[in-house]
Amino acid sequence: MRIQVIYTGGTIGMEPSAQGLVPGENSAAFAAWFGELCAEFSAGTDIRFSRLPTLIDSSNATPLDWQRILDAISAAPADAYVVLHGTDTMSYTAAALSYARAGNDTPVILTGAQLPYNAPGSDAGKNVFGALKAANTSRTRGVCLYFGNCLLAGNRSTKISSMGFDGFDTPLVYPLATAGVPWRWAESTAKPLSASSPVPLPWGKPAPYRCHDVIILDLAPGMSVQRLQKMLTPPPEALIIRAFGVGNCPSAEPGFVQVLADLCAADIPVVVSSQCQSADVTLKAYETGQVLANAGCVGSADMTLEATYAKLVFLLSQGLSGREIRSWMTRSVCGELS
Ligand code: ASP
Repeated sequence: MRIQVIYTGGTIGMEPSAQGLVPGENSAAFAAWFGELCAEFSAGTDIRFSRLPTLIDSSNATPLDWQRILDAISAAPADAYVVLHGTDTMSYTAAALSYARAGNDTPVILTGAQLPYNAPGSDAGKNVFGALKAANTSRTRGVCLYFGNCLLAGNRSTKISSMGFDGFDTPLVYPLATAGVPWRWAESTAKPLSASSPVPLPWGKPAPYRCHDVIILDLAPGMSVQRLQKMLTPPPEALIIRAFGVGNCPSAEPGFVQVLADLCAADIPVVVSSQCQSADVTLKAYETGQVLANAGCVGSADMTLEATYAKLVFLLSQGLSGREIRSWMTRSVCGELS
């Protein structure tokens, strides 16, 4: 069994500086710590460590970094991968990797830490150990995230806490497994999970990620149509509206819905997401949501915001038209929606 570990940056290996924590330049010390950890891991597992040329705070990650990780995975054939990543945008990266690797069941486990590896009481060792364990079992399939004792479906995950050692959750699905003695696996994974799409994917080998102009726009009570219009001028390539509840908007504000209808008419995908962490967006439930459906917007169903954003960037990177993108937003590529 060969596990390739790819270190990309993040708090897990950061060092203090006058400007606060920064990606550690002394990656030799980090690699040495990692080596000791691996020595405790089961014999017979060949664990190899590599790092990206530039370590980053994941708040600086872009779709080009998602692609760098994908390329690093392709360049190092292994039975499983562990990606050490900053927590801030780990769920975006997990979703992005899952789309690009749809249909590929090789485990890719992302993990990180709330505290640097050498800080007292750090969660780094526990998280990395758990991620290696998840990578080392035949029950794990596709892109997952391991954090705070839980193995989670990567494209269902979201960062729920900037403080807690259980910093991630999958609000709409159960954890795949909970660490313990022994690990407890969810019933659904008694049959191995599949990273495959329920329908054939039309893009073959996916084109690489590129940066795209996708806006995430939060609604708030009293937002005017003038403000909405200004925020959307010039228009983006795609828009995610973080609406209220099941996908409702201030439909009584004159012209508000028309601004969105004009984008849809210009073949720009407008996806309605929710400000609720647990939500199944249903545009038919209220008049304030139905108007969005009538305008040509699509709901994000039970996808997380991270999965919705990464999916739009993925589909735009495949060169799909607005109509095709709208249709894929309501269908599962690799288990990101129910
Ligand atoms: N800012 C850090 C990052 O995302 C936070 C962390 O890793 O916990 O890289």
